[in-house]
Amino acid sequence: MSLKNLLDTSTDSSLSGQKWHILRQSIVKHLLSSGNATIAELSAELQSSVPTVTKAVNELLSEAYVVDMGKITNSSGRRPSLYSINPTSAYFLGVNVNRSSMSIGLQNIKNEFVSIELDSSFKLENTPESLQELCNLINSFIEDTSVEKKMIVGVCINLSGRINSMEGFSYNYFFTENRPLAEIISEQLGLPVHLENDTRAMTFGEYREGVVDGEQNIIFLNYSWGVAIGMITDGKLYYGKSGYAGEFGHSTIFNNEIMCQCGKLGCLETEISGWALIDQFKSAIKDGKQSKVTLDEKGVDTQHNAIINGAVNLEDTLCIDLITKQSEQMGRYLSIILNIFNPDLLVIGGDFAQLGDYALLPIQAALKKYSLGLVNRDMKLKKSVLGRRAGVIGACCVIKEKMLSPLMNV
Ligand SMILES: [Zn+2]
Repeated sequence: MSLKNLLDTSTDSSLSGQKWHILRQSIVKHLLSSGNATIAELSAELQSSVPTVTKAVNELLSEAYVVDMGKITNSSGRRPSLYSINPTSAYFLGVNVNRSSMSIGLQNIKNEFVSIELDSSFKLENTPESLQELCNLINSFIEDTSVEKKMIVGVCINLSGRINSMEGFSYNYFFTENRPLAEIISEQLGLPVHLENDTRAMTFGEYREGVVDGEQNIIFLNYSWGVAIGMITDGKLYYGKSGYAGEFGHSTIFNNEIMCQCGKLGCLETEISGWALIDQFKSAIKDGKQSKVTLDEKGVDTQHNAIINGAVNLEDTLCIDLITKQSEQMGRYLSIILNIFNPDLLVIGGDFAQLGDYALLPIQAALKKYSLGLVNRDMKLKKSVLGRRAGVIGACCVIKEKMLSPLMNV
């Protein structure tokens, strides 16, 4: 049975029916947070008698929400059974949409992927056809997995740009004035759909399943084709009033005449981003600089990855020089964020994170130079560990958190 049924309020309106439903929810909640427990542990934790907890656990076992993991030996020499949440009781689908590809993955309730496809071909365009294609790809992915659709509790779709997650609107891609985009996609998929900004989902993925190790105040830098930051304050994602927080890349920093993707002049992205790196590389070649890298003119959205690859795998001097210069500048402007935010941890993620020390060392040196010593000393700097899977893992974590919140708030 899908865990969906347990998330809803009880259909039994009597006081005893309500109490029983809450006890069942509390057992599942405890097993989700602790991993596993014995009847005695559940009884102590939930302050409910052993016979009552035993009855509830047996019911949850018969409905396949819970599984018996076998007997353990405890200090008194008894061998009680250990219970855990059934990994197949609920699934969560995460979709990360890029400009020329999409990644999709289905996780069970224990955060294990049962199926994942990274960087499948998909052209993100602001057209109804592109939206239909996205829905078709998600539906065929679901059909190809061994999991029944009714077992999927929800879907999170990451898009770049301005997303109002609360209301389900996207403003940069597939803008729909009268009806939330989340609702339109939900109708196509026959599943609850949540929209999320891609950087914010990546941030949450690193927090739940990535490089974060207990830190509660985090800045995640998505340094890719575009640039944005995700923020976690006191363990919670920060959205801002309408969900547009983190648009670091569109801060007007440079006094140049370069038109940004957003239509303004001199944004940070115009000199520090994947798309700026492509322009800088092309301009250097035009000026007679030599490089081992040749850009594929068909893949405009991924050319920066060829330059990153040139630095990492070919040790190409031009690629390294351009990346070092950008990363130094990135460190300088990140120091503004750090001075204001004073985080425990700064995570460098996105395509540029593949550069390792080529990007991290210049960023670190610039942070030391430009941020306040006390702020910098308080903070750890780490590289994303989720890499290309950050978006899809983040999307799964976001939808799991959202859909299980009725349980976790019991
Ligand atoms: Zn801009």
